Amino acid sequence: MPGGSHRHALVIGAGLAGVAVCAQLARRGWHITLLDAASGPARGASALPVGMLSPHVTRAPTPLSRLSALGMQATLAELQRLVPQGRGWQACEVDNLGHDPGRWPAALVRPAALVQAWLVEAASRTTPHWQASVHRLERTASGLWRAVNAAGEMLVEAPVAVIAAAHGSHALLTDASGLMEPEHLPLRPVKGQMSLAELHGAPLAMRPQRDSGVFVPAYEDSGLPPEWPARLWAMGSTYTRGDSSTHLTPEAHEANAGSLQTICPPAADRLRSLQACGELRGWAQVRCASLDRLPLVGAVPDAVALSQHMAAAGFRRGRVPLEETPRRQGLYLLTALGSRGITLAHLCAGWLAADIEGEPAGAEPDLVAALDPARFAWRHARRQP
Ligand SMILES: Cc1cc2nc3c(=O)[nH]c(=O)nc-3n(C[C@H](O)[C@H](O)[C@H](O)COP(=O)(O)OP(=O)(O)OC[C@H]3O[C@@H](n4cnc5c(N)ncnc54)[C@H](O)[C@@H]3O)c2cc1C
Repeated sequence: MPGGSHRHALVIGAGLAGVAVCAQLARRGWHITLLDAASGPARGASALPVGMLSPHVTRAPTPLSRLSALGMQATLAELQRLVPQGRGWQACEVDNLGHDPGRWPAALVRPAALVQAWLVEAASRTTPHWQASVHRLERTASGLWRAVNAAGEMLVEAPVAVIAAAHGSHALLTDASGLMEPEHLPLRPVKGQMSLAELHGAPLAMRPQRDSGVFVPAYEDSGLPPEWPARLWAMGSTYTRGDSSTHLTPEAHEANAGSLQTICPPAADRLRSLQACGELRGWAQVRCASLDRLPLVGAVPDAVALSQHMAAAGFRRGRVPLEETPRRQGLYLLTALGSRGITLAHLCAGWLAADIEGEPAGAEPDLVAALDPARFAWRHARRQP
């Protein structure tokens, strides 16, 4: 466990994932250098004007449904502790109309409000650097992780590095730094476009409704940046795998109108008429999803040492002994939050901070294991002849 003056971590990525890690480490007495390529926090997917914190209800429990239940509880407590209702979130219920119908407790959340609140709380221990794009990570002779920009200049060195750069984590760990094999890190971009507009008058439904997409009939937030109306309604979002562009398209607005048609036909008509008269607003960004749709949280595996270990131990079949995986010492990952970053970032960051401190996995060891970033390297190695 790193101790004393070595309790310094560099964190790459200042969205929900990276800033949740800063908050967790700062509470544990760490100093953090936070690097992001953007000009401020929450400028990627976490710039979402409004998203939903909700359980993922399934007939039988799955890792994602269990994670979401835990994450929902933990995030709600964070919101209640740090962000005034009406200035970044509002409690609500959501009607599930498609699979597993029912009404569930939920909240509408603007992620940037939570990110800002965590940064304020961690301010005395966090040094942010904006427009600091990390090109690669190197291990120094003295065992530090060094973040280097595209010009080859050192940005910062620390004994612990956490990569929370969403889909940017892939290039950083594979091509540029050669720290992971691309097939061991199956991340893909998934573009999403939300349609939204200022809400005039009464909302068209009592509460948010979800089928394929979420209809938010009303969201009020006095902290929304000036480019958004403080009272809005929204429908979203499209889900286009493999697309990492962020421009708005009329086709995606029409796709949202189509999904809204089955949820609330009058709202679909309104969306289309606002689009026709040029008054419909939109927001598009890129989610990062893994092959099995679960986040990647934990220490980065050392694939070369892993193959040697497997050959020596004769592992080919049976249970994957994740705990025996050789790791890149001091290098951690928190990414692939997919469509559930609001629900999962805080929970996953807490588990990651415990891992960094060398604490045992806590009450849900099987779930912690399900998120281990080494799982794909193991699966890949076991498939080799
Ligand atoms: C349209 C849409 C709707 C959504 N709706 C919901 C919802 O209703 N509920 C929900 O829970 N989630 C929702 N999500 C998902 C949620 O927004 C994400 O899961 C979450 O924001 C991911 O946070 P993150 O920190 O991992 O990524 P990001 O917020 O994208 O942050 C990654 C950061 O890494 C930085 N970065 C990348 N590469 C580098 C590098 N090399 N050097 C330095 N910095 C780098 C980027 O600049 C960026 O700031 C939605 C997403 C979209 C796009």
